Amino acid sequence: MSTGKVYLVGAGPGKPDLITVRGLRILREADVVVYDYLVDERLLDEAREGAELIRCDGLRSRKAAGLSVSIEELNRLVVEQAGQGKKVIRLKNGDPSLFGRLSRELEALVENKIGFEIVPGVTAASAAAAFTGVPLTDRRFSSSVALVTGREDPVKDITLIDWEGISGCSTIVLYMGVGNLRRTVEELRAVGKSPLTPVVVVTRAGGPEQRTVRARLEDLADKTEAGEIAAPAIFIIGETAKLEREFNWSKINKRIWFTGLSRERFFLPGNYFHLPLIKIEPMENYDELDGYIRRIREFAWIVFTSRYGVKYFFRRLNSLEFDSRHIAGRKIAAIGKSTENMLLNFGVRPDLIPELESSRGLIREFKNIDLRGKQIFLPRSDISDKGLEEALKEQGARVWSSFAYRNRMPDNLPDLDLNSFDQVIFTSPSTVRNFIERYKRLPAKVKVRCIGAVTREEARRCRLLN
Ligand code: SAH
Repeated sequence: MSTGKVYLVGAGPGKPDLITVRGLRILREADVVVYDYLVDERLLDEAREGAELIRCDGLRSRKAAGLSVSIEELNRLVVEQAGQGKKVIRLKNGDPSLFGRLSRELEALVENKIGFEIVPGVTAASAAAAFTGVPLTDRRFSSSVALVTGREDPVKDITLIDWEGISGCSTIVLYMGVGNLRRTVEELRAVGKSPLTPVVVVTRAGGPEQRTVRARLEDLADKTEAGEIAAPAIFIIGETAKLEREFNWSKINKRIWFTGLSRERFFLPGNYFHLPLIKIEPMENYDELDGYIRRIREFAWIVFTSRYGVKYFFRRLNSLEFDSRHIAGRKIAAIGKSTENMLLNFGVRPDLIPELESSRGLIREFKNIDLRGKQIFLPRSDISDKGLEEALKEQGARVWSSFAYRNRMPDNLPDLDLNSFDQVIFTSPSTVRNFIERYKRLPAKVKVRCIGAVTREEARRCRLLN
């Protein structure tokens, strides 16, 4: 009997934070994450450091039909990993019990006597409904819903879909419908659904690329093709679909792209898409920083310019088996509220926090302090400029710095229809530069907002602002 256990967890669709709290807790503990191709990869940042991440379609065998991963191959992998006693999470798109070949995976676990647990998720139908303001049921128009697949198992030659029965449901939600849409519409027409039945098509529900097309059954196929709707899409067919016109909050609100890393801010007017243009990573080698940390007592000041500087400085400090007492007696300066808060997390209250949250602000405050002959240490990112160091040197200080983390362009930034945004908020010069590198230009109708003067300068230099 194996001791391993597998969690089959619904990740939800479209956004990385639609997973349940329980699912997230399991993800954070897992040794191995085997995830479906539709799972938002940003969610994987939640996996613990060192966890093995395996994307299912990486396993696609040549023999398998179409897009589908060979289920045997997948099962073999999961059974093998769990058999070695590893904590395995099978992260599935949406809800695991809907159109996800759940039972095929469970059979393999039962057969190999591997314990399992299933954690539900938000299914694409719920997400599509929520993100367009279309209720799936409504007291006035609909008291039953059918969830239907537009694509059956390709090896079955007869259809198991009971279109006659389904037509009795007031709302029909079609999954995987894009490829076979004309045929599906014919089936629904043949069993008596009115050609005037309202339909809403939602593609990539929840993400910045969400698109909605409004149609009637009779022109659905044409409109879907003209609207360049590609999978993954959900079709909500039924009277409630007409409410999209009134309640589609993702269309009613201003669409704002927030490019920074700070925590998502809620309860602000507008529809925020939190899609960072930077990514923070540890350095590959910490020999230099470790050297400074070991002799930190030689320094009069430590200057933290970002919360990541704090985070990685303390991470190294802990790896070297010190704790915050090791920096006792050093004066600490911090730029910005979030840097201050991160220091407080480590039990350190900064001595100096410039009112103006920037290097310039800090330089101004240091003007009132005698730095002559003092040694200052600055943990910084691999791309920060030397302006602050130079300014402190001019005041007579001896300044040393070392890379504590790397600031990189995120992988897999999606292709975006930039015209769909009303506003973009840049939070640092690197978000501006990465934007230009990845997306080149911003349509003139999109308003640019910058946090801080340095960011604004960079936006001007890159011609995002006049
Ligand atoms: N188990 C999943 C469904 C997997 S089948 C769930 O419960 O949602 C894959 C289909 O789900 C896609 O073809 C599409 O119809 C739908 N889907 C998944 N993610 C979606 C998204 N973000 N927007 C719209 N449809 C989505």
